[in-house]
Order: sequence, then C-alpha cells, then structure tokens
Amino acid sequence: MVGLRYPGKKVESSRLLQALDFAAERHSAQRRKGPDAAPYVNHLIEVAMLVASVAGVNDADVLIAAVLHDVLEDTPTTAEEVSERFGARVCQLVQALSDDKSLPRKRRRQITLEELPEMDSLTKIIKLADLTSNIKLLPQSWSFDRQLEYLEWSEHAATICSGECQALAELYWQRAGASRALLERSRAS
Ligand code: ZN
Repeated sequence: MVGLRYPGKKVESSRLLQALDFAAERHSAQRRKGPDAAPYVNHLIEVAMLVASVAGVNDADVLIAAVLHDVLEDTPTTAEEVSERFGARVCQLVQALSDDKSLPRKRRRQITLEELPEMDSLTKIIKLADLTSNIKLLPQSWSFDRQLEYLEWSEHAATICSGECQALAELYWQRAGASRALLERSRAS
C-alpha cells in the first residue's frame, strides 16, 4: 500500500498513465515510418522519456503534453477533449506543438520556424525531444531530396530550441550528425 502513503505522487503517475493509455488508443491505427513500422506509441513514449530523463523535467503536465504532442495533429481528438481530460495547461502545450494539417507541408514547416522562437521554454524542450526522436532514422522510403529537406528543416528548428537544454541538444546533434553522414553515404553509392 505504498501508494496510499504518497497520495500526491500517486495522482501524478496515474494521470501520466492515463495519458499513455489515451494516446495508445487514439494512435492505435498509426505506425512509424521506419523499416519496422513500429507502433506510433513508441515515439510518444520516447519523447516523454527524453523530456524526463535527458532534460530532467519533473512536471507531470509537461510529461503528459509530451505523450499527447501529436494527438491533435494526427487523430480526430479535439482540444476541448484534451482540456477536459488533462487540464487547460496540458491542452495549451499540446496546441502550441500542433501544426495546422489543412496547410501544405512546406508551409507548416515554415510556420514552425517562424513561431518557435516565441514559444516558452517547456514547449521548446518537448519540441527538441520530438526532433531528437524523429532524426534518429530518416524515412528510407523518402527520396534523397526529401530526406535532405527534412534534415535541414529539423536542424534549423533544433537550433532555435538548443539553448533550452544542453544535454538534449547534445543528443540531438549527435543523432543529426549520424543521419547526415548516412544520407551523404547513400548519395555517394
Ligand atoms: Zn512527434
């Protein structure tokens, strides 16, 4: 009955698990673009883990927002639903991290670069964790040009966020360097 002795902590971990359960269900039909088409929830768990373990953030709302960061963009979930279930602060963070999917991809990426410098630190840390997860392996089904375009946009976005957390920035730039080397080798061969 350890949980009963620490009611505050129990409530926070229970909310985080509720968010994971909710995200796993909402993203259940979605797969990652990698060669093993991993379940999408793997990405959400990695982003939350990077925010907690590498950036050292110990704020339940921020970890929940990391778990839910793609739920508005990629599933029919509404902002009202996120706000009702997880609170206004979580909803605000998730909305800040969501693109307007009605716009073309290039325009969405451009808007991100324009808006990111004005975002608060916690939003930038979640964004950097998202970029760090995504840069690990560029989708091999994409053309060379598309991979390069993504890599360059990602590095630009990460540059804007890198000042928020040195440890996470180091991991990002290590992964981006490896992905760039792999991409350049693919062009040479
Ligand atoms: Zn993501």
